[in-house]
Amino acid sequence: CGIVGYVGDRPALSIVLDGLRRLEYRGYDSAGVAIVGAGTLETEKKAGKLANLEKALAERAASGITAGTTGIGHTRWATHGGPTDRNAHPHVSQDGRVAVIHNGIIENFARLRTELEALGVEFRSETDTEVAAHLLSISLAEVRAEGAEGPQALAEAMRRVSRRLEGAFTLLAVDTAIPGAVVGARRNSPLVVGRGDGENYLASDVSAFIEHTREAVELGQDQVVLIMPQGIEITGFDGTPVEGRPFHIDWDASA
Ligand code: GLU
Repeated sequence: CGIVGYVGDRPALSIVLDGLRRLEYRGYDSAGVAIVGAGTLETEKKAGKLANLEKALAERAASGITAGTTGIGHTRWATHGGPTDRNAHPHVSQDGRVAVIHNGIIENFARLRTELEALGVEFRSETDTEVAAHLLSISLAEVRAEGAEGPQALAEAMRRVSRRLEGAFTLLAVDTAIPGAVVGARRNSPLVVGRGDGENYLASDVSAFIEHTREAVELGQDQVVLIMPQGIEITGFDGTPVEGRPFHIDWDASA
């Protein structure tokens, strides 16, 4: 599938959609976006090609989704659950706080789903991905109770979730109360950072952000990355700080 994340000072929606357009060859089952503004989290997702999502967004007309400057987007290649609107990403936690997109397969999702259902979580899709959204909101509540807040809380919650997941995944997530941060996690699935000026990108492939920046950072396996307008922070799943490997994209990826 294709994955894009943006944080900066420009409206995220058009940047995320442009990125998805460049990645659409990776998945055709559905497309979706989540945009965070000042205290708002808005999502739109549609089965079928990106054009279906764009049509749905156009019909929302002048809604706030056009204003937020933090966003994530996904094109899906379905593995668990049919190619429907409900199974399209992003998946949002029951409390409405976090939105998650995912590339890959969470092998132990059935066990995690049973565990979450026992806690009273009601699932809205048949995907393996949805467990990550609910686990993230639970971990965020725990991390906040321990005193962390802001982007750091989001990163710590993602590390806790990542340690519980088996399989291959790239995950991106945003939180409605944390505008100005996108968190990503990677295990056996692609994820690169694009570094801009007062803005940063995450994508499954550099072609998603090449028109904005050619300065990229490679992540290793089992790492979590936090992007904010003014910087990026990478750690292992255990929280150990990691230096990403910077590289310059000098080939022509604009085709
Ligand atoms: N396994 C997830 C799903 O079926 C993600 C698929 C993908 O990589 O697009 O929704």
